[in-house]
Amino acid sequence: MTQPTVLLVEDEPAQREVLRYNLEAEGFVVVSARDGEEALERVAEGLPDLILLDWMLPHVSGIEVCRRLRMKTETRGIPVIMLSARSEEVDKVRGLETGADDYVIKPYSVVELMARLRAQLRRVRPAAAGQILEWSDLRLDGETHRVTRAGAELKLGPTEFRLLSTFLERPGRVFSREALLDRVWGRDIYVDSRTVDVHIGRLRKALMATGGEDPLRTVRGSGYALG
Ligand code: CA
Repeated sequence: MTQPTVLLVEDEPAQREVLRYNLEAEGFVVVSARDGEEALERVAEGLPDLILLDWMLPHVSGIEVCRRLRMKTETRGIPVIMLSARSEEVDKVRGLETGADDYVIKPYSVVELMARLRAQLRRVRPAAAGQILEWSDLRLDGETHRVTRAGAELKLGPTEFRLLSTFLERPGRVFSREALLDRVWGRDIYVDSRTVDVHIGRLRKALMATGGEDPLRTVRGSGYALG
């Protein structure tokens, strides 16, 4: 399973380090930013699975970052957990109206914060959160990594497994080759986009090994989708 990526936006170095440590211990790949402007740059470089966003940031505030993310189709669905030292109800309401999915007040309990992150992750990356994904006659267990089709076990390589879990997390959604590279291979690895086609071919073969139709759809000029 590709490890989920969290974008950590925090301007105070000590807090950033504590959070990075805890997030990495939870199994997240951490990309960090020191201010709002940098946060938007990091998002433009590759979409994270979750964003942990400090409210009070130099240059562009957390609220503004959240507002801009919600304006764009490709970033609208990324869960944002806002961190803030302000505890007034009015701020909480403003935070949620701006589109944050959750809100945690500083000083926070790391245990609680991680629980909230996992809750958001289950929503957007159920396979990465170790859950069972089912679609049609396919079943993927995110914990044991077993994949079956109509009850028969399928043999998938690690890359094909990650590809399939990506598709099963969003059946019907068309993933571009770039989006698949980001999610399956990771953003820091250079892989030719034709590699995606090779692994899609292998995944198709594995999925049809026990019979049944090809569940993957090639969308000309766009990418691939399940169903
Ligand atoms: Ca701050």
